[in-house]
Amino acid sequence: MSTPRIVVTLAVLALGGLAGVVFAAPAPLEQPAAATRAAAPAPPTPRYRTTSHEVAAGDNAGPLLRSMDAPAAELLAGAGSALNNIFPGDQVHLDWRDGDERPFRLRLVHDAATTTELVWTGVKYTARKIPVPYRVQEQAAAITVTSSLWSAATAVGFSAGQIIELAKIFEYDVDFNTELVQGARFRLVLDRLTADDGAERVGDIRAAILDNGKKQYVAIRHRTPDGTVGWYGKDGTSRRKSFLRSPIEFSRVSSGFSTGRYHPILHRMRAHRGVDLAAPTGTPIRAVANGVVTKAGWAGGHGNHVELRHDNGTVTGYSHLSSIAVKRGAHVSQGQTIGKVGSTGQSTGPHLHYEYLVNGVHKDPMKAIVPVLKPLDESDRVDFLAARDRVLPLLEAATELAVTEGVAENSTAER
Ligand SMILES: [Zn+2]
Repeated sequence: MSTPRIVVTLAVLALGGLAGVVFAAPAPLEQPAAATRAAAPAPPTPRYRTTSHEVAAGDNAGPLLRSMDAPAAELLAGAGSALNNIFPGDQVHLDWRDGDERPFRLRLVHDAATTTELVWTGVKYTARKIPVPYRVQEQAAAITVTSSLWSAATAVGFSAGQIIELAKIFEYDVDFNTELVQGARFRLVLDRLTADDGAERVGDIRAAILDNGKKQYVAIRHRTPDGTVGWYGKDGTSRRKSFLRSPIEFSRVSSGFSTGRYHPILHRMRAHRGVDLAAPTGTPIRAVANGVVTKAGWAGGHGNHVELRHDNGTVTGYSHLSSIAVKRGAHVSQGQTIGKVGSTGQSTGPHLHYEYLVNGVHKDPMKAIVPVLKPLDESDRVDFLAARDRVLPLLEAATELAVTEGVAENSTAER
């Protein structure tokens, strides 16, 4: 009896632009270079200056702006509620063009991550994207996949980018297109960010357990002393493996590996020495591991074809591509796009024919056992184990949207 499968569609990717608030630092004010060696009379170069004021206790925006010779009423009209709450220590910067009667920009800097900008449009001031201060609260939450990972994860406030990140944590274990079972359950410890206005969004995932049918996977986020963030198992082994489970992020297997099958074009039984992954034309194909391009070009029935040679006598092949993005002899890294899905050569529709060879023998790539990358250093392992022992009980106890007792850290709202 087969297990129900869930297909995560490309619609997830199409919504990737909907990620939450961007915490961007303000662009530095461009200072045009002064004209040099001006032989002919040139138009006068506009000069810029900035006046600044640090907000003190008891300051209000209106009087403060008037004290800076700024048009307070116009600025306040354009600000909406943005200037209602200013706090001691906030910096107000006014950027002026010499000769202008009003600043072309106001910047209210709460701290490095939070700036409000008001820009003069020629008619009025408008507030630009306003990153807001937020509180970080650690939260345990569970997600049960009933129809799709997408609908389950958006229900708890995940953006498309975060859903992809969640899928990436387990991409070495589970092919999310074909292997995620109905009722699969994620338990997560994550950062929940709360803005001053009460708006909430999901921040980083810190740890995760995936129960997928009979199998359980544990992943704990850890930053090594060199600053690299990675995912580790309970015992501190890296979850990153030297081969990805699939060269296509979201697809489904339309034809598996076999030693004999009916060939739809040749009309005879023939071994299928790879797997076919159905995906729309143009879907990026990723190198499953670091390697060297040994073939990149037309290969008869295989159409546009790329072959990569990896360590330990392993070779991977990618066929029927609509386009090839690499050249023979080039070094590629794991995850790098090497081409796009197509239907070139002997093919009945857009798909990737993917082959996996060890010492010249074709293997089923979906069953291949792949080596794990190097473990943590001994000293780093001690830190990892301490963090693990703190986070595992939270993970184990996670229920649908349960808030753990407020562990606030990195709060930017305290002032
Ligand atoms: Zn095939």
